[in-house]
Amino acid sequence: SYIITSACIDEKAADCVDVCPVDCIEEGSDQYFIDTDICIECGACEVACPVGAVYYDTDLPEEEKSFIAKAENFFKSK
Ligand code: SF4
Repeated sequence: SYIITSACIDEKAADCVDVCPVDCIEEGSDQYFIDTDICIECGACEVACPVGAVYYDTDLPEEEKSFIAKAENFFKSK
């Protein structure tokens, strides 16, 4: 699934929100998050992001892997 990473923090350009066909990207306090239960993995957000914050999970750089759990916790705590 797709994950939004550190480059989104305080950037929050939100271009991804506008292009997501299933409206599954939600705003958190410091960044946006993708709801992986709803995401259809179309990749539109990865292309749209002006700061390259979106990665497919298998492409995540090591230092960005914690963003998987951060997104899970965001949706769990809602
Ligand atoms: Fe939305 Fe597609 Fe990005 Fe999933 S991959 S969050 S469906 S734009």
